[in-house]
Amino acid sequence: PAPRRVTVLGATGSIGASTLDILRHAAGDGGPVPQVVALTGNGNIAGLAAAAREFRAELAVTADPARYAELKDALAGSGVEAAAGPDAIVEAAARPADWCMAAIVGAAGLAPTLAAAAQGGTVALANKECLVSAGDLFLAEIARAGATLLPVDSEHNAIFQVLDPAQRPALDRIILTASGGPFRDWSADRMSRATLREAVAHPNWDMGARISVDSASMFNKALEMIEARHLFGLAPSQVEVLVHPQSVVHSMVGYADGSVLAQLGAPDMRHAIGYAWNWPERRALPVERLDFAALSRLDFLAPDETRFPALRLAREAMEAGGLAGCALNAAKEAALEAFMEARIGFLDMARVVEATLARLAPFAPARDLGAVFAMDEAARAEAEAVIARDHARLG
Ligand code: NDP
Ligand code: MG
Repeated sequence: PAPRRVTVLGATGSIGASTLDILRHAAGDGGPVPQVVALTGNGNIAGLAAAAREFRAELAVTADPARYAELKDALAGSGVEAAAGPDAIVEAAARPADWCMAAIVGAAGLAPTLAAAAQGGTVALANKECLVSAGDLFLAEIARAGATLLPVDSEHNAIFQVLDPAQRPALDRIILTASGGPFRDWSADRMSRATLREAVAHPNWDMGARISVDSASMFNKALEMIEARHLFGLAPSQVEVLVHPQSVVHSMVGYADGSVLAQLGAPDMRHAIGYAWNWPERRALPVERLDFAALSRLDFLAPDETRFPALRLAREAMEAGGLAGCALNAAKEAALEAFMEARIGFLDMARVVEATLARLAPFAPARDLGAVFAMDEAARAEAEAVIARDHARLG
């Protein structure tokens, strides 16, 4: 089998680790043989160096320029080149590769993922913030470069698997499933006092800390609504959310004739990552097979938008269009940071985002990357101002 040149952006994260696991497993399965070009990380220098040695990467890059010497030391004698800083991450993403996993967390993933897209290879996209903040620009770059975009977010990967392009004109709606997170059955009062430790205790998925908190607030689902809208070219009213506590149905597609197609699997990101690795073929993956008799039941319920206002905010941002998605994501990242630092309460996150969006509206179209970065910065600053004004008592 032919070698395939591979880069993993965010190799030290949760998705990164699962991706390396898929690449490890792929070595002898008859499919393409991974040949690692670049691995990138941020704070976890030891993990980055260990992975770069194991996969004999050409290049390992940390986003943190202050950690360069440490990374270089950790790679001494390995033959792996070391680099550091945000620009070096973008340069790593721009090195010729056939398949790139985009799994940096947050808006920091935008520039590197665009650089990967510009090469015209395959972009396996975990970083949803790219589509939320700069959906039109990102998709235009994918089209311009002739790149292939494969969604890795499990819901979007599920839709990608079951959405037949020939039947696209008859698409009625997509139904994003949501586990409901650890606070699914909590009262608003209890949620207002939730701690970081409680928020990261996700019932089904083992994920990075920030996306785990976003799952608890359903801001993750809010981002995914906007992500789906861009990926599949939908009207805001065609994007539905359904709470499904078992996380076995990864999402569904509804057609004009009333048929609904679903993709099911164990809640393990290696499904979606492995699918993106093997696409358009399918190969055995190191994941659990579903045992339906043992599952015995699957539950579905409507989301509660009073306790989870993030879903309404996403719909409003989709209606507003333009840079609203970018503002929502940036305000959410600022509010998330404030919650993680115990500067605001759990339910304050949605209040901060809502107040920030109200102050920045109306939203211009996302004309270029400069406009996106300017809005990202403005929304973070505005969110911090809202936090300082409304939540001084907590600080
Ligand atoms: P993690 O927090 O586990 O990992 C994030 C990765 O990004 C790490 O490699 C981290 O490096 C790196 N990183 C952090 N900050 C920066 C920065 N400023 N510049 C460059 N790199 C940076 O996140 P996840 O793996 O959970 O999520 C990654 C992306 O995938 C997110 O966009 C998330 O929404 C999406 N996603 C994740 C899912 C999951 O199950 N985890 C499911 C669906 C989507 P280091 O660790 O060395 O500091
Ligand atoms: Mg998801």
